[in-house]
Amino acid sequence: MSSLASCIFCKIIKGDIPSFKLYESEKVFAFLDINPLSKGHALVIPKHHGEKITDIPDDMLSEILPVVKKLVKATGAENYNVLQNNGRLAHQEVDHVHFHMIPKPNQTEGLS
Ligand code: 5GP
Ligand code: ZN
Repeated sequence: MSSLASCIFCKIIKGDIPSFKLYESEKVFAFLDINPLSKGHALVIPKHHGEKITDIPDDMLSEILPVVKKLVKATGAENYNVLQNNGRLAHQEVDHVHFHMIPKPNQTEGLS
């Protein structure tokens, strides 16, 4: 797996930065977002370091959405967003490809 020494998500994969891990396979890693937009907001990332979706090998990309699906099922969310940002103008802050899975709770449900 390629990694970039300065990349926070590569450090999370290696365990050098702690995270709440949800899933791990040979090619994919998933963990809770540190600043969640809702309870269960998860990030699913390829273990291969790449900044944008075009930098990631197809075999890695094809393993990501099935993991997103598993997380949706695990949370029981009926309403959710799957988001993936590329580039600053598209609101990408962390330069390691990631897919957000953001449950949309009922209005009576909050972060707690
Ligand atoms: P972006 O705007 O790049 O699509 O989203 C980056 C996401 O990464 C943000 O939702 C942010 O809260 C999350 N994030 C940034 N740094 C960390 C970290 O060190 N740990 C975790 N778990 N999430 C992070
Ligand atoms: Zn990285």
